Amino acid sequence: TVRTRFAPSPTGYLHLGGARTALYSWAYARHHKGTFVLRIEDTDVERSTPEAVQAILDGMAWLGLDADEGPFYQMQRMDRYREVVGQLLASGHAYHCYSSPEEVEAMREKARAAGLKPRYDGTWRPEPGKVLPPVPADRKPVVRFRNPTEGSTGWNDLIKGPIVFSNTELDDLIIARPDGTPTYNFCVVVDDWDMRITHVLRGDDHVNNTPRQINILRALGAPLPQYGHLPMILGPDGQKLSKRHGAVSVMDYDRQGYLPDAMINYLARLGWSHGDDELFGRAEFVEWFDAQNLSRSAAQWDPQKLNWVNAHYMRQLGDDALGQRVAPRIAARGGDLTQASLPAVVALVKDRAETLEQLADAAMLFFGAPEQPGEELLQQHLTEAARQALADFTRQAEALEWSRENISALIKQVLKAHGLKMPQLAIPLRLAVTGRTQTPSIDAVLEIIGKETVLKRLKQF
Ligand code: GLU
Repeated sequence: TVRTRFAPSPTGYLHLGGARTALYSWAYARHHKGTFVLRIEDTDVERSTPEAVQAILDGMAWLGLDADEGPFYQMQRMDRYREVVGQLLASGHAYHCYSSPEEVEAMREKARAAGLKPRYDGTWRPEPGKVLPPVPADRKPVVRFRNPTEGSTGWNDLIKGPIVFSNTELDDLIIARPDGTPTYNFCVVVDDWDMRITHVLRGDDHVNNTPRQINILRALGAPLPQYGHLPMILGPDGQKLSKRHGAVSVMDYDRQGYLPDAMINYLARLGWSHGDDELFGRAEFVEWFDAQNLSRSAAQWDPQKLNWVNAHYMRQLGDDALGQRVAPRIAARGGDLTQASLPAVVALVKDRAETLEQLADAAMLFFGAPEQPGEELLQQHLTEAARQALADFTRQAEALEWSRENISALIKQVLKAHGLKMPQLAIPLRLAVTGRTQTPSIDAVLEIIGKETVLKRLKQF
């Protein structure tokens, strides 16, 4: 059965590329009714932080990417890695190397000078009949993997197709440091083996690691997973997506008011396609997702497209549910949610909002205190005729049964009586009641703000 994993290094937030990798690994497992494993690769103790671990877990939870197993932490598996190092030493697939870092650097320099790939020269690699140098006193050895020197190592990449490396390009990788701690590629191998991973989907920055990992897996007699290397995500300018392009942390998108379903839908399409389908839910995605339709070329981040997708999911929620989502953001702006009906406000302003933040901004028209219009605006719009019309409107509104239709009818009647055109009354009304010159349709705005508040503000004005 299919077993996939997401294996982030907790050195920062969960970024968009990581989130997409997680999504595809999750969806692949779900599609095949398999198991999705979360593994935290925290062996880089200098750069790994508990905050980063939490940020990854938060990002996954927000996106709804639930792991069936894990999180496993590599730092908790050190004994196991040491055990497998011992196993490879015992089977002759690994050896102790006493070359000092300076000596190794000299070897690499020598190779470079000869026009070859810089490499360890195999001084300590045992061969039949070869006499190894005397072990230097007081020097702790590293453990190197005995990589094949002939032939090639390749795989049929799920995304990129056949990839082959000549084994002469791969020198004997260090798998354990002088203090015994295992190295990155080695931990990945032991984990993928122990966790019985069948499909590895990861960024194509790992392509060069794969032949090394395959050779170690083979030496261990472990089954090989299938590998798929995802092309990177580019910014709108064609450069590798980075902070320069705006938010790259998944949780920033939460803060900016994107819905998890929209992020999932957008990320799903970023490097994978299902015909012309642009909008689909999780269930459809899981049903449709497979490795065949993963794109071989880099994907481009398109903020406008994301906004469009997000707007779609906002509309889909319905006014009550959307109101519940946006309420905390209105409260955070100091809005008073008792001032108006939230679903009614949402229904009125949602068309122009593509994010929850934009929606909250728009909703503040109804939940915040009215703005204080500037002198200039007042002079421009508050003509004598407008003042009289406003006064007339206020007087007649007292007796009005408060509904959008009745408000609209009253406005028309006042316009007619004073010989004015719509903006000549609508703008002063907006200024008087909201402090703004632009709002959604004035009759709808007045209806939602409510008779009592409207009359109070008009009289104060
Ligand atoms: N920990 C690696 C990273 O964050 C991923 C390793 C893997 O997927 O094999 O880039």
